[in-house]
Amino acid sequence: MAANTKEVFGSMVFNEHVMKERLPSATFQSLKATMAEGKPLDLEVANVVASVMKDWAIEKGATHYTHWFQPLTGITSEKHDGFLSPNGDGTAIMEFKGKELIQGEPDASSFPSGGLRATCEARGYTAWDPTSYAFVKDDVLCIPTAFCSYTGEALDKKTPLLRSMAAISGQTARVLKLFGKEPKRVTTTVGPEQEYFLIRKEDYEQREDLILTGRTLFGHSAAKGQEMEEHYFGVLRSEVSAFMKEVDEECWKLGIPAKTKHNEVAPAQHELAPIFDVANKAIDHNLLTMEIMKKAAEHHGLVCLLHEKPFACVNGSGKHNNWSLTAGGENLLDPGDTPMDNLQFLTFLTAVIKAVDDYQDLLRTTVAGPGNDHRLGADEAPPAIISIFLGDELGAILEAIANDSEYHAVGKSKIDLGVDVLPVFSKDTTDRNRTSPFAFTGNKFEFRMPGSTMNLSDCNTVLNTAVAKVLKDYADEMEQAEDFTAAAAKWIERTIKAHQRILFNGNGYSEEWEKEAEVRGLSNFKTTVDALPCMVAEKNIALMSEMNVLTPVEMQSRYEVELEHYSKVINIEARTTLGMARRQLIPAALEFLSDVANTAASKKAVSSAISIRTEEQILGSVSANVDDMNEACNRLDDLMRQVGQIEGNYELAKFYSDRIVPAISDIRQAADRCEIHVGKDYWPLPTYAQMLFYV
Ligand code: ADP
Ligand code: MG
Repeated sequence: MAANTKEVFGSMVFNEHVMKERLPSATFQSLKATMAEGKPLDLEVANVVASVMKDWAIEKGATHYTHWFQPLTGITSEKHDGFLSPNGDGTAIMEFKGKELIQGEPDASSFPSGGLRATCEARGYTAWDPTSYAFVKDDVLCIPTAFCSYTGEALDKKTPLLRSMAAISGQTARVLKLFGKEPKRVTTTVGPEQEYFLIRKEDYEQREDLILTGRTLFGHSAAKGQEMEEHYFGVLRSEVSAFMKEVDEECWKLGIPAKTKHNEVAPAQHELAPIFDVANKAIDHNLLTMEIMKKAAEHHGLVCLLHEKPFACVNGSGKHNNWSLTAGGENLLDPGDTPMDNLQFLTFLTAVIKAVDDYQDLLRTTVAGPGNDHRLGADEAPPAIISIFLGDELGAILEAIANDSEYHAVGKSKIDLGVDVLPVFSKDTTDRNRTSPFAFTGNKFEFRMPGSTMNLSDCNTVLNTAVAKVLKDYADEMEQAEDFTAAAAKWIERTIKAHQRILFNGNGYSEEWEKEAEVRGLSNFKTTVDALPCMVAEKNIALMSEMNVLTPVEMQSRYEVELEHYSKVINIEARTTLGMARRQLIPAALEFLSDVANTAASKKAVSSAISIRTEEQILGSVSANVDDMNEACNRLDDLMRQVGQIEGNYELAKFYSDRIVPAISDIRQAADRCEIHVGKDYWPLPTYAQMLFYV
């Protein structure tokens, strides 16, 4: 494999190289303009592109095409259409027109719309996103598309992402103009680190909870967890290694630059990180990577679990979102070598700080979800409080700026941000704070709150839009300034002063931080249902609509979709818990009890002098736990009966969160206590030890 990685890479992608080779030069130029500058593609050009694309795809084995899109479920959707077109004389040709390339018409009514369907037509259309290349997967030509209603409302995750990229790009260009630069293209870049678990297929198949909910709803912790710290970066087991090789190869074929792979902290946990790319491409690629991982696992007798918390008691899985801004090849978050470069760097850095502080609540909503509720704030992942880590050196510089004090590391010069005294500082970022939810890591920010299942479009949409808004206000002010550098320096000083509260270099997992964050006035939404209403807070709706990313109606609809999604997930978890407890676990425990009771009875039948103390003790404790389990089931059952009477999406989600979630957990606790007393051969579920540790 290694020898031909170069040939494999991108071999199934209709990328720029293929376009250049195969398209007539005028068509290529016009398509390139569309890709680079977002110019609309005219139908004539589209016809030529479609025909060339079809021939290329057929050579790669494709028989069908699909508009590949990301509805509000977050996962990807595709409906396959054949290229085949009958001639009427018994023969057929393979056909694919420009119209079919640029626009598709899936039935929108089967996808979540959060009430938009009532106000809009049921029909929706998909439109090609030419900035993300088409590719062939499973004999299907996939065309990355955005999905909208006929009245133009976004029904997907990609549309607002693209709008937010346009917003930040426009405002960044305005700011850079003040610095005397006019880059052709400004983009946001994203590098997602994907964590996941791999377990044996035969274990998975025996667990209804994993099959139906993606996580274990039962299971006592194993005698060993992750305390030995032996798994992180440990040697890969052979089937895992074979799996990773397959994933790499499949990723490479689709032009996904999968780069780093290693074992993660928890047993059976791993990570894959690609090289970063333009945000929308990186997100398309991440979604494909998740799909590839799921499929590849099967070939190795494994199952890939992408859930945020498949196993209690060991770390869950996140998806770190590395983010930066690039203009004409220059990374705007890379500290510069000259004071003037540093003024520009500090401007963008400060803009991100302000944006994250001003819209911390909205950003929090983008990582809210039933799976991530088990992770955030649980001693293993960042807390539910958003704060920014800058590292010692940069932190000290900003502090000196804010306090108008001396910055000691670089001589004793006072930083007044007059351009000639702004220090040139090193780019060293060895001091990393793993507990920070939003960390500056040298030349990019790493947002560590997103969960492993999530579509990163949401958080990047908000991040881009919030930063765009800050840059917009900045440009509005600075374009009027008489002395730009002086005004820019003042703006940095003023802004850093105003946003001190969001900067935190300490331990984000500690209790003290939670208290201190409250004093600082930072928001702390512990659960999904606590956080989601921020999606419809006035200031957040105003942001998204001012920057033309989401209309108030679209925001409202997304809010409803998230609430519905939450309730549905908890509903499935509740029903699965009840089913497994009543039909598998209680019967197993009773069977065990019956055998123990019979043993006691037969012992007594032989001689009343024989001790049955052990049997009595086991019968007593297991019976008590089974009673607890059964009663907890009855309580959950009662609660589930009340669900139907609750009106309103928020009220329903709140009921699930406040009442059903704890009731599910009560059943689990009783069941897990049973598990460790009931004979191994009686317990119907593979244990944590069996699933997480294997040779
Ligand atoms: P770690 O956080 O595990 O130390 P790295 O520092 O190697 O990992 O980077 C993690 C991810 O950040 C990789 O996917 C990498 O491509 C990405 N990355 C690096 N530079 C940028 C950038 N300018 N913009 C976005 N992502 C970036
Ligand atoms: Mg990382």
